[in-house]
Amino acid sequence: MNADGHRLTRGVLDGDRRAIARAITVVESEGPSAAAIIKGVYHRSGRAYLVGVTGAPGVGKSTLVDRIMTVFRSRGRTVGVLAVDPTSPFSGGALLGDRVRMQAHAADPGVFVRSMATRGQLGGLARATADAAVILDAGGFDVIVIETVGVGQAEIEVSRTADISIVVTMPGSGDGVQALKAGLMEIADLFVVNKADHDGADRAVAEIKTMLGLNEYGPNDWRPPVLQTRATDGVGVDDVLDTVDRFRARGGDVAGRRRQARVYGRIRQLVSDRFLEHAEHRVLEPGAFDRLVDQVAGAEVDPYTAADAVLDRALRSPRGANHTEDAPPMTAVLDHIGIAVRDLDTARVFYRDALGLELEGVEEVASQHVRAQFVAVGAATLELLEATSPQSAIARSIERRGPGLHHLTLRVDDIAVVLARLKARGVRLIDEEPRPGAGGSLVAFIHPSAADGVLVELMESPALADRTGRDV
Ligand code: GDP
Repeated sequence: MNADGHRLTRGVLDGDRRAIARAITVVESEGPSAAAIIKGVYHRSGRAYLVGVTGAPGVGKSTLVDRIMTVFRSRGRTVGVLAVDPTSPFSGGALLGDRVRMQAHAADPGVFVRSMATRGQLGGLARATADAAVILDAGGFDVIVIETVGVGQAEIEVSRTADISIVVTMPGSGDGVQALKAGLMEIADLFVVNKADHDGADRAVAEIKTMLGLNEYGPNDWRPPVLQTRATDGVGVDDVLDTVDRFRARGGDVAGRRRQARVYGRIRQLVSDRFLEHAEHRVLEPGAFDRLVDQVAGAEVDPYTAADAVLDRALRSPRGANHTEDAPPMTAVLDHIGIAVRDLDTARVFYRDALGLELEGVEEVASQHVRAQFVAVGAATLELLEATSPQSAIARSIERRGPGLHHLTLRVDDIAVVLARLKARGVRLIDEEPRPGAGGSLVAFIHPSAADGVLVELMESPALADRTGRDV
């Protein structure tokens, strides 16, 4: 990842709204930067509660979600909203509804609303929404509401991945039946009949309950409650959130299984996307896939044979087998250079004022007794290190050798492999085994005697996401 990517990742982890918004734009655009961002923030996800809100257009989802946001906020929880609208070609918070909603909560940093719209396939939308949820989760939002128009299978899939799925309907026009047709019945943990001020609300509730009566529930099973709301004036919304909390409090196997299923689905999806991408663009000659499609369309070849042919080619192909083909020739990248300074203020005068470089955040790394100032230099970073105590390695280094270059940090894909190779060559190491660094990274130092007096730090990290508390 480049310096910009690092900054974005760090911004997300710091809960910086602009970084979160930009990161979501990046994951919407697919491409390698999207994967890099998720790799950099994923270790901080898994804390938020995902609430899916689904229903036909016009039942009042947006109005209800707005109320839900307000009530969650009044209960002290931060809320991110992803409004997934597969019918809209717009994205990036450009929807009018979004702007209106955002204005209502403009002054509140505890709220974030974003529309997700299709660029291409619905599958891409599901993936982008899942990635956006990871970003909001890592950005520190307590609750993430995923609002989808429940008209097609793909949108239903999106909401199925939530921790709780709320299906919204409204009285009249046979909406209850419509919801059933769309397969929403099966995914609902909670039904909300909105527009309870309209005639027929009680009947709609009764209809849904009748349908639920056809299912068998064990004594400990969750039987989806059917609630009524008036989203326009907020009536019934407290009840909805109490029910969400009640469902959440049950936790247990169902909740665990759902999260497992979510992850399982994600990995499967990525593997299959990547495999196809590989087969289509790296294994087969250009145009070969299209020719295969023509042959199947013309009934010359059946789809099973076509699929087997692609699979066989991909597995047998020397290009398919050669996983290193696309690997960069370098196995390590220079992540940053550590410089021991006597005092950060003086150093800043040089790097910022004289050289005109951009300073990033300052971080106190208590365990190492240092304060670190990061300075962006193109794709690399300088880490200016000031000792905060005489015990610090930086203080001792300055005492012995004076200030100056202290270490290089090389980011590697697999630190264990690199250490094994170094050991096999008899290279003197300070750390024989990798030890945990910050943010899920692993680090190990090579002895300066092995590198012409340079202290080299190896680091394995999905991305330099979180410099807080890391080793220096
Ligand atoms: P969505 O398409 O499901 O997101 O629906 P919206 O939230 O945009 O609402 C559609 C329309 O229904 C809007 O004009 C809302 O003001 C209105 N609406 C939403 N909730 C209620 C309600 O509880 N009662 C009444 N009478 N109208 C509502």
